[in-house]
Formats: sequence, structure tokens, C-alpha cells
Amino acid sequence: MSDGVFERCPALSELGIEHGFGEIDSDRAQVASLSLARQVHGTALVEAPVLEEVEADALYTAEPGAAVGVRTADCVPLLIADGGLRGVAAVHAGWRGSAARMAETAVAGLCSALHVMPDALVVAIGPHIGPCCYEVDEPVRQAVRDDRVLAPGRPGHYQLDLFELNRRQLVRSGVSGDRIQRVGECTHCHPDRYASYRRDGSGRRMLHWIRMPPGPVAPGA
Ligand SMILES: [Zn+2]
Repeated sequence: MSDGVFERCPALSELGIEHGFGEIDSDRAQVASLSLARQVHGTALVEAPVLEEVEADALYTAEPGAAVGVRTADCVPLLIADGGLRGVAAVHAGWRGSAARMAETAVAGLCSALHVMPDALVVAIGPHIGPCCYEVDEPVRQAVRDDRVLAPGRPGHYQLDLFELNRRQLVRSGVSGDRIQRVGECTHCHPDRYASYRRDGSGRRMLHWIRMPPGPVAPGA
């Protein structure tokens, strides 16, 4: 078992942005100045800091040194940074949030709040349940409304590709395809590394976070 390991995205690290996609037993005690909200499978993007009872599936901040995070176990975590370092966001998108276009809402809201263009954003998509393991039924297919991300499976069932669903939404929002990076693997396939709600049925979650770099040190400080 890997205790509190965080996986990094090379493109975010190159920007000097601290971040991590947590594996099993990643813990908020490992991340200072962290804001988390109550995730409700919606599409609200809220500026941090927030009280933890605030309902939001995406948090952003423009504050140097401040961190925002989400918790998942099979759902898709997205960590987003402006390449000009004006702000960062953490996003949670399961099938409900993905079907409701959480990623598009997050990109539009973040760009509006930070006064940046979508093609300035770098997006890392972290470990989530892959199409190898994510069987869904007809109601989910109808909500997703995009057969290009659904492969036929057992009668009346489909294998849903959440990565591709979110990637398509990001590109449609104006994010450059080469600035979308994938980190980690299928949560359901790797019980030694990841929590999986579908596999374990428990309340176990993994923490994913991103932080604005601290502000420049003032001359003479
Ligand atoms: Zn799998």
C-alpha cells in the first residue's frame, strides 16, 4: 500500500505550480492552506476560501500560496492552472457532472474570473474509473448524449470513457489539446494505488489539490 503518495503532472510542474493527485490514504493534513467544499455532483464553480459546508464541485483561487482541492473515488479530478499564473482550479466530475458539462462550466467561469483565454490554461486529468471498468446503463447514456464516448457492452449497457468525454468538452471550450494531460490510471483496476467506489463501495476518497505559487519576495525583504 502506498501511504499518501501524490502523482504529479509534468506540464503543471514546469509552470512551478505545486499540486498532486492523491493515491490511497492521501490526506489533507499533507496540504497547507487547503480549501475543500461539499461535493454534490453539480456544476458550481466557487472562489476559495470557502466554508466546508458550501456546496461546490469546482473551486478556484487567485491568491498566492492558497490551495484548492477535490476528493474522488472513481470520479474525474481535474486540476487547472493559468499558464500566466493568475489562478488555479480543482474540479470534480463524475458521470453526472460530466454529463452536465462541469469542465466547460469551470473553464468559462475561470477564464471570466481571471481575465484569461482558454488556450492559456493547462489541464491535468487525474486517476478515475476507465472505460475498461465503467459499465453504465441506458439512463446514463441518455444523459451523456455522446455515443463517441460510449462503447457497446452487455445488452442494454455501455462502457463509458470519462476521460474522452471531459477532453472533448475542454477542447470545445477552447483549451488546446496539447495542454490537456492525463495523469494516473484506472482507479478500479489498481486497488493497491487507488480508492474505487464501484469496487470497494466504501466512503474512502483520494485527495487532489493545486496551489498558486507564493508571491514574489519583495525587494529587501
Ligand atoms: Zn479498469
